[in-house]
Amino acid sequence: AESLDKGLEKTKDGFFSKLSRAIVGKSKVDEEVLDELEEILISSDVGVETTVKIIRRIEDRVARDKFMSTSELDSILREEIAVLLSENKSADVSGDFETPLGVKPYVIMVVGVNGVGKTTTIGKLAAQYHKAGKKVVLGAGDTFRAAAVDQLKLWGERVGVPVIDHGMNTDPASVAYDAVKQGTETGADVVIVDTAGRLHTKVNLMNELAKIKRVMQKFSAEAPHEVLLVLDGSTGQNAFIQAQEFTKATEVTALAITKLDGTAKGGVVIGISDQFKIPVKYIGVGERIEDLQVFSKQTFVESLFK
Ligand code: GDP
Repeated sequence: AESLDKGLEKTKDGFFSKLSRAIVGKSKVDEEVLDELEEILISSDVGVETTVKIIRRIEDRVARDKFMSTSELDSILREEIAVLLSENKSADVSGDFETPLGVKPYVIMVVGVNGVGKTTTIGKLAAQYHKAGKKVVLGAGDTFRAAAVDQLKLWGERVGVPVIDHGMNTDPASVAYDAVKQGTETGADVVIVDTAGRLHTKVNLMNELAKIKRVMQKFSAEAPHEVLLVLDGSTGQNAFIQAQEFTKATEVTALAITKLDGTAKGGVVIGISDQFKIPVKYIGVGERIEDLQVFSKQTFVESLFK
């Protein structure tokens, strides 16, 4: 929790110092305070839709109770944000990187556009699973970028896990097939497959991801067990747009939101969680392996309000 606080410092500075400044010298939550709150939420990248929802709910409470003191605003806002954040119900919520019982290998397909921290997230995940005693196989399925394949191979060496790679410009589905095959044959616990993140055309993306899924299902009807979308938390509106594109193209089951250490706009986590109803499973708060953290709603909300 300490490093989460540290990682999210910019979010806190942005969000909560602004809120405290907005209510200085005011005892009562009135229209002016709500306007300020709305502005703060928007400028923290919570997104218009979710901001409006939060403001409405607080307005309703003010109307119902006739009065709300600014000193209560903190805890009320905390409650409202907690309602909007989806609970992380995944097996490894405790941070111990367990895989679901009886699922072997647990297959994770990772999607997202270039530059969001996809490769780094896969490397960090591999490291944490490996550290938890899990046998991991990686698949370098982002075959459109030489750098992605090379970078994943480096992570594999660094962590000490095998990386299935067919080089550049090869069929990502074939990489996925071989990765799951090797994972199955060698008794791996987890297979993590990278994919190309080009949003070239929607139909292409959709077909490509569907094909990757199909070949994985040759080994297990439930594979991939997780489709993890990686988003860069510092890109605000772009992260929303990418979430929209990818959820249209495939069934995204979990989110990793990276680079929250580099932004005062952690509100993206709240807005995306609310609008897409997909659990945020990991957050990235820095470049070190342990900076990929298992998302906890409680810890996140508390860190915003400290
Ligand atoms: P990809 O193109 O999506 O595979 O992106 P990379 O994994 O190559 O990451 C792009 C850059 O973002 C790299 O320099 C990473 O070290 C950096 N990065 C990834 N996640 C985080 C994070 O949570 N915090 C910070 N500060 N940097 C990150």
